[in-house]
Amino acid sequence: ISYEKAQSMQLNNVFPQVQMYEDPLLLHEGKMQWLFDYKGKRYLDMFGGIATVSVGHCHPKIIEAIAEQSGILGHVSGAYEHSKMYEYVELLVSKMPGDLKTVYLVNSGSEANELAMLLARLHTGNQDVLSIQNCYHGVSGNLHGLTALASAKFNNTPAGISIHHAMCPDVFKGIWGGRKCRDSPVQTQRSCECDRNHCRAADNYYEQLENIFSYSIPRGKVAGFFAESIQGVGGVVQFPRGYLKRVYELIRSNGGLCVADEVQTGFGRTGEHFWNFQSHGITPDIVTMAKGIGNGFPMAAVVTTPAIARSLNSAFHFNTFGGNPVSCAVGVSVLKVIDEEGLQQNCLDVGTYFLDKLCGMRREWKTIGDVRGKGLMIGVELIDGDQDDSDIGVINPLNCRAVSRIKNDCLKMGLLFGVGGIRSNVLRFMPPMCVTKADVDFTIAVLRRAMQNYYE
Ligand code: PMP
Repeated sequence: ISYEKAQSMQLNNVFPQVQMYEDPLLLHEGKMQWLFDYKGKRYLDMFGGIATVSVGHCHPKIIEAIAEQSGILGHVSGAYEHSKMYEYVELLVSKMPGDLKTVYLVNSGSEANELAMLLARLHTGNQDVLSIQNCYHGVSGNLHGLTALASAKFNNTPAGISIHHAMCPDVFKGIWGGRKCRDSPVQTQRSCECDRNHCRAADNYYEQLENIFSYSIPRGKVAGFFAESIQGVGGVVQFPRGYLKRVYELIRSNGGLCVADEVQTGFGRTGEHFWNFQSHGITPDIVTMAKGIGNGFPMAAVVTTPAIARSLNSAFHFNTFGGNPVSCAVGVSVLKVIDEEGLQQNCLDVGTYFLDKLCGMRREWKTIGDVRGKGLMIGVELIDGDQDDSDIGVINPLNCRAVSRIKNDCLKMGLLFGVGGIRSNVLRFMPPMCVTKADVDFTIAVLRRAMQNYYE
């Protein structure tokens, strides 16, 4: 179809999505870290379809896997098993620590977290779930309540489920730890995960969570605790060191399960470890994963222990597309490419280089409040007070004027990145894991120009 027709259809025939740019960007083609719009203009993709294009757009090995598996077996549904699923599960489990070896394949992060919530409730018999403000775990709630078929409702009805949120342990913006860390001479790069004595942020936030727990959840009645190990949509928020470990101990000593949402942070993106929860010295009871798992192919997974997985026998759960043979073939290929091409190490090398350059920019621009993240999951928080406060709480990339202008300017110069945080004032960089230092140089040059255009 023509460019003009697509534009008019965007206005009239498709549901409006989160609007990234003032003028809709109509993308047409992708190649590794590059995207091309309908008119053939090239963009460096530093957002990777929201941390999803792990190994690169249209990576030849992924195309090959899709083509080959499509010609062998394309779909069987969750009612049958097939050999590709076992091949994939074996490979995925080899990446998991501890007793995390039972896998349920689904199609999206929301589905994975729904299932994790159901598992936590069934396994513990409890209905209270604890999480952290500013988190993002998906949007598919309430469907269990909507489904009316009696056999499918068995044990699944979410009646009485109660969700609590502890204060977000954001050491930059939050009330504990932020500015001190920023001013500290050693905290030039990562303003959080600070374990220095002067910063009691981890203790304070932990005590606040314990308080919520004590007052709102009857002892021994917690089903689970959900957390991302770095909050993604919330604006690349890292937690102070030691915080998650203590929360896990609290939840477990009260009989609850700990769920790590590795939807954005998994698959080596943060560089140091394959799963980012490993950098906190914790092993969850349930891990949910999506996005990078399929390089853009719709797939996701819940991985847990055999004992917790058996709790599902007392309920009904079904998924038509989960574990689809083509998805499994893609999954196998993604894991192999990450290893064969050393992409986790590349995330660490290129990410560290990128963080250093951004920290250099922060020293020059007072409006850059914070630079944070790990590997190729990086956030740059702007603090020019230029946002429209009436919109706080709605993640809309057009909310913050400075970010919106800078982002549009970068678009014109061929650079894409994301936006996050409750004030939409955090630039988010989560590119395909194959980006190079030259791509970072390009990003920095374009960002500098856009910052100059806006602020000078
Ligand atoms: N968890 C996290 C950490 C996410 O970032 C997202 C999506 N942004 C989800 C869960 C939900 O995933 P999906 O959109 O695939 O349902």
